[in-house]
Amino acid sequence: MDTLLDKDNSKDNPKNFIDHIIRIAIEQAAVSIVITDKDGDIQYVNPAFESITGYTFGEVIGGNPRILKSGLTTDDVFDNLWETISSGRPWKGELINRRKDGSIYYEEARISPIIDENGEITNYLGVKQDITTQKYLEEKLRQTSIRDPLTNAYNRGYVFERLYQSIEQYKREKEDFVVAILDIDHFKIVNDTFGHQAGDYVLREFCEILMSSIRSYDTLGRYGGEEFIILFHDSDKDRVHEIMERILDSIRKYKFRYEDEEISITFSCGISNAFEFSHKDITVKDLIDLADIRLYKAKDAGRNMIVID
Ligand code: GH3
Ligand code: MG
Ligand code: MG
Repeated sequence: MDTLLDKDNSKDNPKNFIDHIIRIAIEQAAVSIVITDKDGDIQYVNPAFESITGYTFGEVIGGNPRILKSGLTTDDVFDNLWETISSGRPWKGELINRRKDGSIYYEEARISPIIDENGEITNYLGVKQDITTQKYLEEKLRQTSIRDPLTNAYNRGYVFERLYQSIEQYKREKEDFVVAILDIDHFKIVNDTFGHQAGDYVLREFCEILMSSIRSYDTLGRYGGEEFIILFHDSDKDRVHEIMERILDSIRKYKFRYEDEEISITFSCGISNAFEFSHKDITVKDLIDLADIRLYKAKDAGRNMIVID
Protein backbone atom coordinates (compact mmCIF):
# COMPACT_ATOMS: atom_id res chain seq x y z
CA MET A 1 0.00 0.00 0.00
CA ASP A 2 1.18 3.48 -0.85
CA THR A 3 2.00 5.67 2.10
CA LEU A 4 1.84 9.45 1.99
CA LEU A 5 5.60 9.38 2.06
CA ASP A 6 5.79 7.20 -1.05
CA LYS A 7 3.26 9.30 -2.94
CA ASP A 8 5.01 12.51 -2.14
CA ASN A 9 8.35 11.14 -3.14
CA SER A 10 9.92 13.39 -0.53
CA LYS A 11 11.59 10.88 1.75
CA ASP A 12 14.80 12.81 1.77
CA ASN A 13 13.32 16.26 2.24
CA PRO A 14 11.65 16.68 5.63
CA LYS A 15 10.39 20.22 4.78
CA ASN A 16 8.56 19.00 1.67
CA PHE A 17 7.18 16.13 3.64
CA ILE A 18 5.81 18.45 6.35
CA ASP A 19 4.31 20.82 3.74
CA HIS A 20 2.68 17.86 2.06
CA ILE A 21 1.20 16.39 5.21
CA ILE A 22 -0.06 19.78 6.38
CA ARG A 23 -1.83 20.24 3.05
CA ILE A 24 -3.43 16.82 3.31
CA ALA A 25 -4.47 17.48 6.91
CA ILE A 26 -6.14 20.76 5.92
CA GLU A 27 -7.86 19.14 2.93
CA GLN A 28 -9.21 16.31 5.06
CA ALA A 29 -10.00 18.26 8.24
CA ALA A 30 -13.54 17.95 9.59
CA VAL A 31 -13.55 21.67 10.38
CA SER A 32 -13.97 24.26 7.68
CA ILE A 33 -10.83 26.27 6.99
CA VAL A 34 -10.78 29.63 5.25
CA ILE A 35 -7.74 31.76 4.45
CA THR A 36 -8.23 35.35 3.36
CA ASP A 37 -5.85 38.15 2.43
CA LYS A 38 -5.49 41.14 4.72
CA ASP A 39 -8.57 42.79 3.19
CA GLY A 40 -10.68 39.75 4.03
CA ASP A 41 -10.94 38.43 0.45
CA ILE A 42 -10.94 34.64 0.23
CA GLN A 43 -7.78 32.93 -1.04
CA TYR A 44 -8.42 29.38 0.07
CA VAL A 45 -11.25 27.22 1.43
CA ASN A 46 -10.99 23.51 2.22
CA PRO A 47 -13.45 20.75 1.16
CA ALA A 48 -15.19 20.85 4.59
CA PHE A 49 -16.03 24.51 3.88
CA GLU A 50 -17.51 23.46 0.54
CA SER A 51 -19.65 20.72 2.03
CA ILE A 52 -20.83 22.84 4.99
CA THR A 53 -21.67 25.97 3.00
CA GLY A 54 -22.62 24.45 -0.36
CA TYR A 55 -20.28 26.88 -2.16
CA THR A 56 -17.42 25.48 -4.23
CA PHE A 57 -13.87 26.72 -4.04
CA GLY A 58 -14.30 28.34 -7.49
CA GLU A 59 -17.42 30.22 -6.41
CA VAL A 60 -15.89 31.88 -3.37
CA ILE A 61 -12.30 32.50 -4.42
CA GLY A 62 -11.57 36.25 -4.49
CA GLY A 63 -14.94 36.90 -2.86
CA ASN A 64 -15.69 37.94 0.69
CA PRO A 65 -16.91 35.71 3.55
CA ARG A 66 -19.86 38.10 3.86
CA ILE A 67 -21.66 35.91 1.26
CA LEU A 68 -22.37 33.66 4.27
CA LYS A 69 -24.07 36.45 6.21
CA SER A 70 -27.56 35.56 7.37
CA GLY A 71 -28.41 38.85 9.05
CA LEU A 72 -28.93 36.89 12.28
CA THR A 73 -25.51 37.55 13.80
CA THR A 74 -25.64 40.96 15.46
CA ASP A 75 -23.47 43.80 14.15
CA ASP A 76 -21.60 44.13 17.42
CA VAL A 77 -20.31 40.53 17.01
CA PHE A 78 -18.80 41.48 13.63
CA ASP A 79 -17.50 44.79 14.99
CA ASN A 80 -15.80 42.92 17.81
CA LEU A 81 -14.42 40.29 15.39
CA TRP A 82 -12.84 42.89 13.09
CA GLU A 83 -11.57 45.06 15.88
CA THR A 84 -9.89 42.03 17.49
CA ILE A 85 -8.28 40.44 14.44
CA SER A 86 -7.21 43.70 12.77
CA SER A 87 -5.37 44.60 15.93
CA GLY A 88 -3.43 41.32 15.65
CA ARG A 89 -5.29 39.18 18.18
CA PRO A 90 -7.21 35.93 17.59
CA TRP A 91 -11.03 35.99 17.90
CA LYS A 92 -13.35 33.20 19.00
CA GLY A 93 -17.12 33.29 18.83
CA GLU A 94 -20.35 31.99 17.35
CA LEU A 95 -21.73 33.01 13.99
CA ILE A 96 -25.14 32.33 12.49
CA ASN A 97 -24.60 31.91 8.76
CA ARG A 98 -26.56 31.03 5.64
CA ARG A 99 -25.63 28.24 3.24
CA LYS A 100 -25.90 28.54 -0.52
CA ASP A 101 -29.28 26.75 -0.39
CA GLY A 102 -30.58 29.41 2.00
CA SER A 103 -30.61 27.27 5.15
CA ILE A 104 -29.21 28.62 8.40
CA TYR A 105 -26.33 27.03 10.30
CA TYR A 106 -24.44 27.85 13.46
CA GLU A 107 -20.70 27.76 13.64
CA GLU A 108 -18.08 28.17 16.29
CA ALA A 109 -15.35 30.20 14.66
CA ARG A 110 -11.74 30.89 15.58
CA ILE A 111 -10.18 33.52 13.39
CA SER A 112 -6.53 34.40 13.73
CA PRO A 113 -4.38 36.97 11.98
CA ILE A 114 -1.31 35.59 10.21
CA ILE A 115 1.61 37.90 10.91
CA ASP A 116 4.87 38.13 8.91
CA GLU A 117 8.40 38.62 10.24
CA ASN A 118 7.91 42.43 10.21
CA GLY A 119 4.87 42.16 12.43
CA GLU A 120 2.48 42.98 9.57
CA ILE A 121 -0.81 41.14 9.12
CA THR A 122 -0.70 39.36 5.77
CA ASN A 123 -3.70 37.01 5.98
CA TYR A 124 -6.46 35.77 8.21
CA LEU A 125 -7.08 32.13 9.05
CA GLY A 126 -10.59 30.96 9.97
CA VAL A 127 -11.13 27.54 11.52
CA LYS A 128 -14.82 26.90 11.95
CA GLN A 129 -16.92 24.08 13.30
CA ASP A 130 -20.55 23.48 12.38
CA ILE A 131 -22.45 23.39 15.72
CA THR A 132 -26.01 23.41 14.31
CA THR A 133 -26.92 19.98 15.72
CA GLN A 134 -25.55 20.91 19.13
CA LYS A 135 -27.52 24.22 19.07
CA TYR A 136 -30.66 22.38 18.06
CA LEU A 137 -30.26 19.89 20.91
CA GLU A 138 -29.53 22.65 23.40
CA GLU A 139 -32.68 24.51 22.35
CA LYS A 140 -34.70 21.29 22.57
CA LEU A 141 -33.37 20.69 26.07
CA ARG A 142 -34.15 24.27 27.07
CA GLN A 143 -37.69 23.92 25.73
CA THR A 144 -38.12 20.61 27.59
CA SER A 145 -37.10 22.26 30.83
CA ILE A 146 -39.63 25.09 30.49
CA ARG A 147 -42.59 23.30 28.90
CA ASP A 148 -45.26 20.96 30.13
CA PRO A 149 -44.86 17.63 28.27
CA LEU A 150 -48.58 16.89 27.87
CA THR A 151 -49.79 20.20 26.43
CA ASN A 152 -46.55 21.91 25.40
CA ALA A 153 -47.71 25.01 27.31
CA TYR A 154 -45.05 26.58 29.53
CA ASN A 155 -44.65 24.97 32.93
CA ARG A 156 -45.40 26.63 36.23
CA GLY A 157 -41.77 27.51 36.96
CA TYR A 158 -41.36 29.37 33.69
CA VAL A 159 -44.62 31.28 34.12
CA PHE A 160 -43.55 32.39 37.60
CA GLU A 161 -40.24 33.59 36.19
CA ARG A 162 -42.04 35.61 33.51
CA LEU A 163 -44.47 36.95 36.09
CA TYR A 164 -41.59 38.04 38.26
CA GLN A 165 -40.00 39.85 35.27
CA SER A 166 -43.32 41.55 34.44
CA ILE A 167 -43.57 42.79 38.01
CA GLU A 168 -40.05 44.20 37.92
CA GLN A 169 -40.95 45.97 34.69
CA TYR A 170 -44.19 47.28 36.21
CA LYS A 171 -42.20 48.72 39.11
CA ARG A 172 -39.93 50.57 36.66
CA GLU A 173 -42.27 51.56 33.86
CA LYS A 174 -45.71 51.40 35.51
CA GLU A 175 -47.27 49.66 32.52
CA ASP A 176 -50.26 47.47 33.31
CA PHE A 177 -50.36 43.71 32.64
CA VAL A 178 -53.00 41.09 33.35
CA VAL A 179 -53.11 37.60 34.85
CA ALA A 180 -55.92 35.15 34.06
CA ILE A 181 -56.27 31.80 35.83
CA LEU A 182 -58.60 29.26 34.21
CA ASP A 183 -59.90 26.00 35.64
CA ILE A 184 -61.94 23.53 33.59
CA ASP A 185 -65.34 22.88 35.21
CA HIS A 186 -66.09 19.38 36.48
CA PHE A 187 -63.14 17.93 34.63
CA LYS A 188 -63.24 14.87 36.85
CA ILE A 189 -66.51 13.97 35.10
CA VAL A 190 -64.76 14.06 31.70
CA ASN A 191 -62.21 11.54 32.97
CA ASP A 192 -64.84 9.41 34.70
CA THR A 193 -67.12 9.34 31.67
CA PHE A 194 -64.70 9.09 28.75
CA GLY A 195 -61.48 7.86 30.36
CA HIS A 196 -58.17 9.46 31.29
CA GLN A 197 -56.86 9.29 27.69
CA ALA A 198 -59.84 11.29 26.48
CA GLY A 199 -59.17 13.73 29.34
CA ASP A 200 -55.56 14.13 28.19
CA TYR A 201 -56.75 14.74 24.65
CA VAL A 202 -59.18 17.44 25.81
CA LEU A 203 -56.40 19.12 27.82
CA ARG A 204 -54.12 19.21 24.76
CA GLU A 205 -56.84 20.50 22.44
CA PHE A 206 -58.03 23.05 24.98
CA CYS A 207 -54.49 24.33 25.24
CA GLU A 208 -54.22 24.59 21.44
CA ILE A 209 -57.39 26.70 21.35
CA LEU A 210 -56.05 28.98 24.10
CA MET A 211 -52.70 29.27 22.33
CA SER A 212 -54.32 30.27 19.04
CA SER A 213 -56.57 32.81 20.77
CA ILE A 214 -53.82 34.90 22.37
CA ARG A 215 -50.97 36.95 20.93
CA SER A 216 -47.67 35.18 20.37
CA TYR A 217 -45.96 37.30 23.04
CA ASP A 218 -48.49 36.50 25.76
CA THR A 219 -47.49 33.64 28.05
CA LEU A 220 -49.66 30.55 28.44
CA GLY A 221 -48.76 28.07 31.16
CA ARG A 222 -50.17 24.92 32.66
CA TYR A 223 -50.67 25.92 36.25
CA GLY A 224 -51.93 22.59 37.60
CA GLY A 225 -53.80 19.46 36.37
CA GLU A 226 -56.65 21.20 34.52
CA GLU A 227 -55.73 24.75 35.44
CA PHE A 228 -54.04 27.20 33.11
CA ILE A 229 -52.59 30.64 33.55
CA ILE A 230 -52.15 33.36 30.95
CA LEU A 231 -50.01 36.48 31.32
CA PHE A 232 -51.22 39.22 29.02
CA HIS A 233 -48.21 41.49 28.72
CA ASP A 234 -48.76 45.17 28.11
CA SER A 235 -52.56 44.93 28.26
CA ASP A 236 -55.48 46.07 30.45
CA LYS A 237 -58.22 44.22 32.27
CA ASP A 238 -61.15 45.31 30.09
CA ARG A 239 -59.41 44.11 26.96
CA VAL A 240 -58.47 40.79 28.56
CA HIS A 241 -62.00 40.40 29.92
CA GLU A 242 -63.34 40.72 26.37
CA ILE A 243 -60.79 38.23 25.01
CA MET A 244 -61.57 35.70 27.75
CA GLU A 245 -65.35 36.06 27.20
CA ARG A 246 -64.80 35.34 23.52
CA ILE A 247 -62.68 32.26 24.32
CA LEU A 248 -65.22 31.00 26.87
CA ASP A 249 -67.99 31.43 24.33
CA SER A 250 -66.16 29.44 21.68
CA ILE A 251 -65.27 26.69 24.18
CA ARG A 252 -68.94 26.41 25.22
CA LYS A 253 -69.87 25.77 21.58
CA TYR A 254 -66.90 23.54 20.77
CA LYS A 255 -67.18 19.77 20.52
CA PHE A 256 -63.95 17.95 21.35
CA ARG A 257 -64.00 14.81 19.23
CA TYR A 258 -62.21 11.84 20.76
CA GLU A 259 -62.66 8.54 18.96
CA ASP A 260 -66.45 8.33 18.50
CA GLU A 261 -67.28 10.61 21.38
CA GLU A 262 -68.18 14.30 21.45
CA ILE A 263 -67.08 16.03 24.61
CA SER A 264 -68.17 19.49 25.75
CA ILE A 265 -66.56 21.51 28.51
CA THR A 266 -66.75 24.94 30.11
CA PHE A 267 -64.27 26.73 32.35
CA SER A 268 -64.22 29.30 35.11
CA CYS A 269 -61.75 32.16 35.18
CA GLY A 270 -60.45 34.80 37.59
CA ILE A 271 -58.59 37.86 36.38
CA SER A 272 -56.32 40.32 38.21
CA ASN A 273 -54.07 43.09 36.96
CA ALA A 274 -51.03 45.01 38.11
CA PHE A 275 -52.84 48.37 38.44
CA GLU A 276 -54.79 46.91 41.36
CA PHE A 277 -51.59 47.09 43.41
CA SER A 278 -49.12 49.81 44.23
CA HIS A 279 -46.02 49.55 42.06
CA LYS A 280 -43.96 49.89 45.24
CA ASP A 281 -44.87 46.65 46.97
CA ILE A 282 -46.67 44.40 44.45
CA THR A 283 -45.64 40.70 44.54
CA VAL A 284 -46.21 37.64 42.34
CA LYS A 285 -48.25 36.13 45.15
CA ASP A 286 -50.56 39.20 45.35
CA LEU A 287 -51.53 38.89 41.69
CA ILE A 288 -51.95 35.11 41.75
CA ASP A 289 -53.93 35.12 45.00
CA LEU A 290 -56.32 37.77 43.72
CA ALA A 291 -56.93 35.93 40.43
CA ASP A 292 -57.41 32.71 42.43
CA ILE A 293 -59.97 34.29 44.79
CA ARG A 294 -61.93 35.46 41.74
CA LEU A 295 -61.67 32.04 40.11
CA TYR A 296 -63.24 30.52 43.21
CA LYS A 297 -65.93 33.23 43.19
CA ALA A 298 -66.74 32.10 39.64
CA LYS A 299 -66.88 28.46 40.78
CA ASP A 300 -69.14 29.34 43.74
CA ALA A 301 -71.46 31.38 41.55
CA GLY A 302 -72.17 28.37 39.33
CA ARG A 303 -69.02 28.00 37.10
CA ASN A 304 -68.83 28.68 33.33
CA MET A 305 -68.03 32.37 33.93
CA ILE A 306 -65.32 34.99 34.32
CA VAL A 307 -64.89 37.15 37.42
CA ILE A 308 -62.84 40.34 37.28
CA ASP A 309 -63.54 41.99 40.65
P1 GH3 B 1 -64.28 21.97 39.41
O1 GH3 B 1 -65.37 22.43 38.52
O2 GH3 B 1 -64.53 22.25 40.83
O3 GH3 B 1 -62.96 22.48 38.97
O4 GH3 B 1 -64.26 20.39 39.26
P2 GH3 B 1 -63.08 19.47 38.73
O5 GH3 B 1 -63.61 18.07 38.62
O6 GH3 B 1 -62.52 20.03 37.50
O7 GH3 B 1 -62.02 19.69 39.86
P3 GH3 B 1 -61.05 18.78 40.63
O8 GH3 B 1 -59.90 19.65 41.01
O9 GH3 B 1 -61.78 18.08 41.75
O10 GH3 B 1 -60.54 17.69 39.63
C1 GH3 B 1 -59.64 17.96 38.62
C2 GH3 B 1 -59.50 16.73 37.81
O11 GH3 B 1 -58.53 16.92 36.78
C3 GH3 B 1 -59.04 15.55 38.63
C4 GH3 B 1 -57.89 14.96 37.87
O12 GH3 B 1 -58.03 13.60 37.67
C5 GH3 B 1 -57.96 15.67 36.54
N1 GH3 B 1 -56.64 15.83 35.98
C6 GH3 B 1 -55.60 16.53 36.47
N2 GH3 B 1 -54.52 16.43 35.67
C7 GH3 B 1 -54.89 15.63 34.64
C8 GH3 B 1 -54.22 15.12 33.48
O13 GH3 B 1 -53.04 15.40 33.23
N3 GH3 B 1 -54.92 14.34 32.63
C9 GH3 B 1 -56.23 14.02 32.87
N4 GH3 B 1 -56.86 13.26 32.00
N5 GH3 B 1 -56.87 14.47 33.95
C10 GH3 B 1 -56.23 15.25 34.83
MG1 MG C 1 -58.75 22.34 39.50
MG1 MG D 1 -61.66 21.95 37.53
